[in-house]
Amino acid sequence: MQVCSMCKQEAELQSSHAIPDAFFRKILKKQSGKYIVVPGGGNSPIHYSSDSWDTHQLCSPCEIHLNKNYETYAIKLLRGSACKVVKHIHGVTFSGVESHILVGFFISIFWRAANSEHPNYSKVIIPEPWNTEFRELLLAKNNIPLRLATIRLSRLIDRTKNDGFTLDSLKNIVMTPFFRKGVSHKYSFCFVFEGFFIEIFIPGLSLAKRKLPGVLNNKIKIIFVPFLDIFDVPEIVEVLVEGYSKFVDGDVTFKN
Ligand SMILES: [Zn+2]
Repeated sequence: MQVCSMCKQEAELQSSHAIPDAFFRKILKKQSGKYIVVPGGGNSPIHYSSDSWDTHQLCSPCEIHLNKNYETYAIKLLRGSACKVVKHIHGVTFSGVESHILVGFFISIFWRAANSEHPNYSKVIIPEPWNTEFRELLLAKNNIPLRLATIRLSRLIDRTKNDGFTLDSLKNIVMTPFFRKGVSHKYSFCFVFEGFFIEIFIPGLSLAKRKLPGVLNNKIKIIFVPFLDIFDVPEIVEVLVEGYSKFVDGDVTFKN
């Protein structure tokens, strides 16, 4: 018998996703079951894939726990159907948001990615004791303290307009997560899916930086998500240089 990564009980493990299968399924449906992988660096060529980066990781009750308590709500929210969404010149405002669920959702992706054996998540690492702390908080459905991890959310756009990417094509990018090394031993881990750029700082940002636009807080009901031009994200620019022509055709998964 294998052991569930979350509850540590012996169980038959399920095929578990870190980045939800729903986001892959949407892309795969449009692209007849395949998407394009643009690997950044290394020698592997641009290729097609239908992999949704799942591994045997969690038992069935833990899968259901994460899906029911975080994923279902967050997917609806990010797709604009669980709240009021207003677009401005500098970003998008989501009102009536259960922020603590959204924070838990992103942390559950982060935690599953860090504990996944899938090679596409190899750059996501959570050292101890934080790894155990996240596991216990998620399992008990407790709020994630901002001092432990702070999440900054942005909506990707392409300001070049002509020949650029529409919101629809940006929503079809799933990028292999990567990390950034910040000052004073802080790290951040970056995820791209459903047209969002999600940066998770660990340990969490200082009080002053938590006031920056797009930073999530467990209590707020209104979230302002600033626009972020894809050409202002160096890690995206790097892979675009390699895969631009393939990318504009449609749906792409980046590997950096
Ligand atoms: Zn379990």
